[in-house]
Amino acid sequence: HRFHSDQPRHDSESVDGLRAALEAMRGEGYELAALDVVVAGLREGAPFPRPTVAFTIDDGYRDFLELGADAFAAYDCPATVFLATGFIDGDLWLWWDQIDWILQSAPRRTVEWTLGSGGMFDLGPMGSRLDIAERFWEDCKGVGSARRQAVIQELAEQCGVQLPKTPPADFAPLSWDEVRALEGRGFTFGPHTVSHPILARLDHPTALAEIGDSWARVREEVSAPLPIFAYPNGQSGDFGDREIRALDEHGLVAAVTTEQAYAEPRRVSQVGDERFRIPRFDYPGHVHPTLQITSGLEALVRRVRR
Ligand SMILES: [Zn+2]
Repeated sequence: HRFHSDQPRHDSESVDGLRAALEAMRGEGYELAALDVVVAGLREGAPFPRPTVAFTIDDGYRDFLELGADAFAAYDCPATVFLATGFIDGDLWLWWDQIDWILQSAPRRTVEWTLGSGGMFDLGPMGSRLDIAERFWEDCKGVGSARRQAVIQELAEQCGVQLPKTPPADFAPLSWDEVRALEGRGFTFGPHTVSHPILARLDHPTALAEIGDSWARVREEVSAPLPIFAYPNGQSGDFGDREIRALDEHGLVAAVTTEQAYAEPRRVSQVGDERFRIPRFDYPGHVHPTLQITSGLEALVRRVRR
């Protein structure tokens, strides 16, 4: 995800909040570890001597360099960035950003939306369109990329705006040079497909190419490519055995999902392909809920609520 400093931005994390969370975790004695170290520990199966947290950032936005990296570096916290390599290569910009940009740029008007349950949407004043964007994002996840792109194009036309070919600065990717510079500062980089599709929805050759090509690009461009993959969207229906087999054949050693759970060494070391289903919590953006998760309280809270 993305980062912001003073001006909160749609779908991004506050850098000050991140600093506060890192400070608090350091204060509590947590180990802030690199993902590959954590994965190696999980595969060994022995419990970690101290509560251990690894940070990952998906997609490869440029604001990681401008904002996120300094915060992690200030707390000597390694972090891993998963790259959608077509985005870094400048071949595409991410479809949810296209929707966001269209809705941000459009004058006030009513638009017709044809995905999901469809309907007419009054865009309302600028700055109040977050809920509409989120609704459109969810609907777009349910369709293939051709249909999605057609609907996005249609939305741009209805709004009377022309989608730029490359992402505006606010949505820009890291360049490969910047990726290598960040490597020099201790950050690591792994593959996250080429064009960020939901893999399970693709035909066989396309799914395999999305995995193989993105790993090939990371290996070509990155000095120490991290053989750990992140599934786009990352929920249980978004990938399956086919993807796991492909990752294994490409020599990738593990993969992370977005299942909100703790990674348990015993489970990862003993259950067959569990190393390709390592769960991750969403970073909640504030100190208190972050500590709730890292202290294990979250599990307790959930159990009590249930
Ligand atoms: Zn992603």
